Amino acid sequence: MEFKTDRVRDEYAEVLAGRRGRLLLPVILLADALSQKIAGKPALLTMIFRTAEEQAAMNRILGTPGARSVHEFWRGFDVRITCYTADQQRELCRRVNAVFVYGGKFKTFAVHNAGTASHLHGQVPDAVAWGRSM
Ligand SMILES: [Zn+2]
Repeated sequence: MEFKTDRVRDEYAEVLAGRRGRLLLPVILLADALSQKIAGKPALLTMIFRTAEEQAAMNRILGTPGARSVHEFWRGFDVRITCYTADQQRELCRRVNAVFVYGGKFKTFAVHNAGTASHLHGQVPDAVAWGRSM
């Protein structure tokens, strides 16, 4: 695993310790393992958590007032996409989604571009709702 910033490294430490975003851990670990297997290099995490203030600032730039993100709730992570060929991106997504089914029309791991730079976006359901569905 590699990290874009010290902040992302610190946030991953929170996930790894089970203090935040616990459901993210197996998905991140699988994405990293598959990155090693498919592309021969670790996944580079560019983002995990986004504050409400950061989301509001992004919404102003993108013209999407009131939009929320799973990143605000420790339910998302982003991986740098430029580390992979298009075939590697598809294979990574296919194999992560074969293990972790998000549900509904959403995918656990997919290429995403919400007006920012293209990236691989991972997400997990709300832990409480997921627990209730078990
Ligand atoms: Zn994301």
